[in-house]
Amino acid sequence: MRLFGFSDGQAFIYPSTGTGAWEAALANTLSPGDRVLAPRFGQFSHLWIEMMKRLGLEVDVLETPWGEGAPEDRIAAALAADTEHRIKGVMIVHNETATGVTSDIAGVRRALDAARHPALLYVDAVSSLGCIEFRMDEWRADLVVTGSQKGLMLPAGLGIVCASARALEATKTARCPRVFFDFGDMQRTNADGYFPYTPALSLLYGLRVALDMLFEEGLENVYARHARLAEGVRRAVDAWALETCCRDPRWHSNTVTAVMVPPGVNGAHVIDVAFRRYNLALGAGLNVMAGKLFRIGHLGDLNELMLLGALGGAEMAMADVGIPVAPGSGVAAAQSYWRSNDPVAKRRVARSEVVYASHSTGSINA
Ligand SMILES: *Cc1c(COP(=O)(O)O)cnc(C)c1O
Repeated sequence: MRLFGFSDGQAFIYPSTGTGAWEAALANTLSPGDRVLAPRFGQFSHLWIEMMKRLGLEVDVLETPWGEGAPEDRIAAALAADTEHRIKGVMIVHNETATGVTSDIAGVRRALDAARHPALLYVDAVSSLGCIEFRMDEWRADLVVTGSQKGLMLPAGLGIVCASARALEATKTARCPRVFFDFGDMQRTNADGYFPYTPALSLLYGLRVALDMLFEEGLENVYARHARLAEGVRRAVDAWALETCCRDPRWHSNTVTAVMVPPGVNGAHVIDVAFRRYNLALGAGLNVMAGKLFRIGHLGDLNELMLLGALGGAEMAMADVGIPVAPGSGVAAAQSYWRSNDPVAKRRVARSEVVYASHSTGSINA
């Protein structure tokens, strides 16, 4: 699939969610007792680790501060120490939605290569695919999973796994039990255009449209738009004199920003006020981050004006609960960044507005 940046292997689409796609990726390629290496730096890497344990895998967890990304150097060291190549998989959440952190998958691939380690590379791209560039071929990622309800702009209900040729090879010896998620059943039926069970047909039609929208805008433009919108949000956070949960700009997420609230303030309070007074849905702090932050999601079908609404609402809610932010300060910072980085030539905007105005007057007169 073009979106994943891959050519060599196969995509599987389940009536499921991102979590189901995780399970499919693991169960089809691993056996109980296999060792895997997984850094934990947020709620989604945590949930994935819990699933792996429940599937009977032996998980070497690299505890990593929440707010940091995958630690390439520690991964390289762990792989180098595994001279018998007992580690079968390296598990990375590309974009940790809980903390607003994007890991460097190319860097993790370099760590695998530096150790000359044959482990498969598994990537959770649920909250990055279709928003942040993914190069499955180039990074030689072996299993990449996503769901329909994030960058693909659809309701929840599809779990998608892309498997490399090496991953497909691994299915031949993998002994984890699998029924609903069996790649083999999918391969046998998909070949003739069928599924082993009822496909989520309405969502498949939706997926077709979502992909058309992304390709029509152009993937490079989609990624640039997410980067631009995200930078505007970060400028707003700076203007509020608050910090993001993300500890280093190299890991800044272009799809979600986690904003740390000052000590003594409960982030859940901001979220509650934003929702009840302003009908604004902010994300909560999860697990160890509960109460310490709120999250602004900025992915999918989104533009500057929609995001200014979210920033303005967050400002009001923060001011309401006593965080000293000047209403308008973050909005102004985002506006000024977006105005100075507008990819649309100003003259063309002016002319198309004239055309639009004359059209609408015409239709009113008619
Ligand atoms: C949303 C999300 C998931 C879980 O996906 P579901 O569709 O809810 O099962 C997994 N990983 C990440 C990074 C996510 O953002």
